[in-house]
Amino acid sequence: MKTDKYRKILKEYWGYDDFRGIQREIIESIAEGRDTLGLMPTGGGKSIAFQVPTLAIDGLCLVISPLIALMKDQVANLRSRGIKATAIYTGMRNQEVVTALENCIFGNYKFLYVSPERLSSDIFLNKIRKIPVSLITVDEAHCISQWGHDFRPAYRSLVELRTLFPNVPVLALTATATPEVVVDIQKQLAFRAENCFRMSFERKNLAYVVRSTENKQQELLHILNKIAGSAIIYTLNRKKTKEVCEFLLSHGITAEYYHAGLSPESKDDKEERWKKGVSRVMVSTNAFGMGIDKPDVRLVIHTDIPSSIESYFQEAGRAGRDGHKAYAVALYSRIDNALLKRRISDNYPPKEFIRDVYDNLCYYYTMALGDGLNCTFEFSLIDFCRKYHLSALPTDSALRILTRMGYIEYVEEMEYASRVRFIIERDELYKLRNLPQEYETLITALLRNYSGLFTDFAFIDERYLSRITKLSRHRMYEILVSLTQKRIILYTPSKRCPIVTFTRHRLLGEELRFAPEVYEERLASFEKRIEAILKYVSSHDECRSRTLLSYFGENNSDECEQCDFCLSQKGMKLSPNEQTDLSAHVVALLSDGKPHSPAELDSLGFSRNKMSLLLRRLCDEEIITIVNGKLLLNRK
Ligand code: ADP
Ligand code: MG
Repeated sequence: MKTDKYRKILKEYWGYDDFRGIQREIIESIAEGRDTLGLMPTGGGKSIAFQVPTLAIDGLCLVISPLIALMKDQVANLRSRGIKATAIYTGMRNQEVVTALENCIFGNYKFLYVSPERLSSDIFLNKIRKIPVSLITVDEAHCISQWGHDFRPAYRSLVELRTLFPNVPVLALTATATPEVVVDIQKQLAFRAENCFRMSFERKNLAYVVRSTENKQQELLHILNKIAGSAIIYTLNRKKTKEVCEFLLSHGITAEYYHAGLSPESKDDKEERWKKGVSRVMVSTNAFGMGIDKPDVRLVIHTDIPSSIESYFQEAGRAGRDGHKAYAVALYSRIDNALLKRRISDNYPPKEFIRDVYDNLCYYYTMALGDGLNCTFEFSLIDFCRKYHLSALPTDSALRILTRMGYIEYVEEMEYASRVRFIIERDELYKLRNLPQEYETLITALLRNYSGLFTDFAFIDERYLSRITKLSRHRMYEILVSLTQKRIILYTPSKRCPIVTFTRHRLLGEELRFAPEVYEERLASFEKRIEAILKYVSSHDECRSRTLLSYFGENNSDECEQCDFCLSQKGMKLSPNEQTDLSAHVVALLSDGKPHSPAELDSLGFSRNKMSLLLRRLCDEEIITIVNGKLLLNRK
């Protein structure tokens, strides 16, 4: 068979015997040079779908991927299999970027991972033309669609990339896309012909459950005590991750908390402890989970409802990747309706409010009318909001909307990587005696991996250094600080800080123009997503798995027989014996001809569900009548 070369590659590099799901269809479609969209659930094996065909042909595969951590993992993974791969992302020094790109031009590299922001940089655009690109892969392709839940404007520059390589096919991959987004991805990527392969998103081992409760913490404990094994708990904000974590600890459940605001070292530590099972539960905001490959998570609980079914499905799907039974539980209380609706105005505040935020921003930086073009400032949301008496959430949203409108560029978390520079001369370095072994190891690693350290600061990658030196991130930090105190190096730890750049001359707030595609249309699709998730958590009339799948356009899926709805249905079935038995009791109670309240039947010990099912049947068969909520026996 001609296609067997793919299987050979799969076996040779990965040791797997055969393809799964739609991997082969995608690979063959790519081999025929067709633009292809692949919809595969998380864990479905998207990477193999572009890595195997690339190894079968000459040239390099350019991979666009939104998350730096994921890129680094994949590059390390490929290298460990003897495949040449590299990545360029925000925070790298220009020289490093040039080196990476030149490796791709001259070095027979097979994979180049790029973060979308890098696509439009001059260095990249200059060098990329010389790279023998034979496939473009877009991972997390839903980010290109503004109808999706995770739109990233930088993805839009992908279309220009296509014009540089008009004959190279594009492979787009995603695990979350509504039918609308499926169409939009292909349109935005200028597919030559529609071509989409999909794999069912059904997760047969995952039970979806919605629990209505007015005491979420108690319910959490209850569930964690009932279901054993590793768990993730998603909460809405950073503060809550810590609160819930402390609550669990105080009840003897080992737990960690995690959010985007933690230092990289402490994130790594927490992730490590959870992965190893030292801590059972990870309490996190949505910052945790993407690309985390822990197969034996038994339970994902949402204490707060996410803003879309897409996010919910993706987060819930992190349970049970090993194929064994797992649970995804959403805790819902009545107040969630109001809280979810509130998110609409928090995310899309009124236009007047946005105009005011713009004006205040200009006062904040004392920007005169007509000034400001290309000025960049560090920004503190807390300080800004305090000064102008604004609330944080809608203000943050207003800044994002202003960014989409093109008036400013607001980057919430510009990451400045850690930097190091030696302040002694190279020959003095060799004179240093009596440094502990760990210090020597780290200094050697620095010198081997970064050039120009004696003349200038170099950005360092602590994750990588920690791996090759076998020093923990924390220990490394201590050594770097101590070397700084000894006046051997200068070390600036990484920091994250938001920045604002004015991309236009200052106008008056009232002059701002709101295009429908940055405001009304996006507001409408946000409202639609909120409505959908609200319906999911507040209704009880369909199998959960079916509800979720039909949202993604999969219509004829089976009932899962394990969600709360399916289980309650099972509890509702009356056996013939129960039916006879119950009917006899009801008829006996009503035989005095007087109206009775249904509560009088409670003492019989049948569940309310069963009782109401039976009463409905007795009504249908015209044996009884219900008048004003009371039961009456019909006279023959
Ligand atoms: P995704 O990106 O779709 O979430 P990955 O590409 O990370 O999934 O793959 C998930 C896991 O499945 C990886 O450990 C991968 O090696 C494994 N895998 C992928 N394809 C196969 C296959 N054909 N046979 C066995 N394991 C596979
Ligand atoms: Mg992936």
